[in-house]
Amino acid sequence: MFGLLGTFLALFALAQTPPASCVAGQITPPVTEGPFYKAGSPQRTSLLEPGMAGTKLTITGQVFTRGCRPVAGAWLDFWQADAQGKYDNAGYRLRGHQVTDGTARYTLLTVMPGEYPGRTPHIHVKVRAPNGPVLTTQLYFPGARQNQGDMLFRQELLLQIRDTATGKAGTFNFVLDSE
Ligand code: FE
Repeated sequence: MFGLLGTFLALFALAQTPPASCVAGQITPPVTEGPFYKAGSPQRTSLLEPGMAGTKLTITGQVFTRGCRPVAGAWLDFWQADAQGKYDNAGYRLRGHQVTDGTARYTLLTVMPGEYPGRTPHIHVKVRAPNGPVLTTQLYFPGARQNQGDMLFRQELLLQIRDTATGKAGTFNFVLDSE
């Protein structure tokens, strides 16, 4: 009887456990910077501008060290193509940097990037813990038709995406090669 109850409680606890937010040593892999990075982006969490076309997308997550210590004050610099697959190389449209809050969290408000020739939709990002090395990588979207045909695509860099009332919400946690 007690054994059965114990088993039940253990199963209940298992069902309540959220998915692992960080696996020690599973460092987020780098992907090439590509030709469109521009240093000096404005500090902002929203890249949305009035009249901007595309499906609204909110990405949230945390930044961890390789030992899964949350990194407050980590720097993240995002840049991406617009819904038509175009980068703004003259200004800073759809470019912005931010720092993680006291619980190592970041939030990015943006739009779904479009495809451009040769590439599946992606969002570029650089991430750095204070005084750590810069990770340059890209985030991808589950189910995008060009994922498998894109040589830069990596399964480990897929966002977890769900539909919301206003568009889409995604999550991704970064694990840096930092102490
Ligand atoms: Fe790109």
